[in-house]
Amino acid sequence: MEIRTQQFRALAGRAILDERLQANLARLGVRFKTLRDLAFAQLSDPEGLRDQAKAVKERSMANLPYLLETLEGRVQEAGGYVHWARTAQHARAIIGGLAKRHSVRSAVKGKSMVTEEIGLNDHLAGLGVDVWETDLGEFIIQLAGEPPSHIIAPAIHKNKEEIAELFASRLGVPKAESPEGLTEIAREALRRRFLAADMGITGANMAVAETGSIVLLENEGNIRLSTTVPRIHVVLMGIEKVIPTLEDMAVLLAVLPRSATGQKLSSYVSILTGPRREGEEDGPEEFHLVILDNGRSRIMADPHRRETLHCIRCGACLNVCPVYRKIGGHSYGWVYSGPIGSVLTPQLVTGHAAWMLPFATTLCGACAEVCPVKIDLPRLLLTMRWRLMEDPNWDGAVPISHRIPISLFGWLAAHPRVYFAAATAMRAAQRVLAPGGRWRLSPPPLAAWGRKRHIPVLVRPFSRRWSRIEPTAPES
Ligand code: SF4
Repeated sequence: MEIRTQQFRALAGRAILDERLQANLARLGVRFKTLRDLAFAQLSDPEGLRDQAKAVKERSMANLPYLLETLEGRVQEAGGYVHWARTAQHARAIIGGLAKRHSVRSAVKGKSMVTEEIGLNDHLAGLGVDVWETDLGEFIIQLAGEPPSHIIAPAIHKNKEEIAELFASRLGVPKAESPEGLTEIAREALRRRFLAADMGITGANMAVAETGSIVLLENEGNIRLSTTVPRIHVVLMGIEKVIPTLEDMAVLLAVLPRSATGQKLSSYVSILTGPRREGEEDGPEEFHLVILDNGRSRIMADPHRRETLHCIRCGACLNVCPVYRKIGGHSYGWVYSGPIGSVLTPQLVTGHAAWMLPFATTLCGACAEVCPVKIDLPRLLLTMRWRLMEDPNWDGAVPISHRIPISLFGWLAAHPRVYFAAATAMRAAQRVLAPGGRWRLSPPPLAAWGRKRHIPVLVRPFSRRWSRIEPTAPES
């Protein structure tokens, strides 16, 4: 998938002016948030449950190497194969190699952000594999040739009229009037793909080390079909998805659907362990687990950024983020959007200019309030700002043109005498250049900018005024 993070400002500007997008975002953001709040309000101890979920992720991260090795062993004992992929390119090569070795002509996929991250569809298409997304939202954006705009609702930016037009033009069907009609069209188009597919590809919501099981949540039944009908099942997961036990899985199952869609539990929860066994009728002949690093161990190695890997991809932080709710997911320029995208993307796509993302936030804290695993997203956003500012060796750090003015202000703020002297000089300059806040003179390159703008009138700093105020006795 093309990385367009450097176009963030332009993409966001365009999104804000897109009335249809604004209406879609406003409607669906409120709906998801309301459902999430209702689902948590029904719990006797929602905070206690979130604490438990956080503890599961902390324990998993603390024992990551051991858990991954245990997982590998259990998967192999169950008859599956485990592959380790250091990079996106490596993961593509592994899955492409499997497709070639097994003469795979067509594949069906369950929704998976990590396959978007490595650009798997294009790679397989280049090898001649006919790849079909089977989640309804992913199917829609695949037909539209667009990336996902939300972690759990990839087509959230489209309304039903747009989808009806898309189906009519791409599938050659009459325009459907209702959501039911649209679903029926997708079902009709996909059913034969499931039956014809040689390979099923999914991500993993979790991987349980003690049993070697992959846990998948869904509401449409498409993952059940993708994992049981084709003769090969390939799972791609990031290293951070492993958890120790089935008991831990139960804790995360209690918070994940509630946070994502406001459901007590997703309609289908699949716990898959290895390929089909002797005597079983369903399931793949071969099961392959591809465990991806792609920069995650670098994040893991930094205690200040490690918490990023606690994310269970519920999407709740997107639904409450005032920035995401105005600019939508495509503005972020890559796979992950919203607060978690602003933290994760600059760490994964080093070398690309993604530095703007952590700065494009209000730090209001709404994301941290809803995160089911209590990730301190505002702290992570500040950490990333600091990293991108202070570490010039960071591949994709804040460019020097932006770093100089910010550093200058930082230095001034740390030296009160110089700051007040500069403020006095600026007030004097303003009386000449922009009396009353209206620019009288604005030299190039500020000429065009200055003609159209008022600037706030600079007044004596509050601390200076305060020190001169005579205390008055309280009235009796
Ligand atoms: S950061 Fe938290 S709220 Fe956001 S997607 Fe991840 S788990 Fe969900």
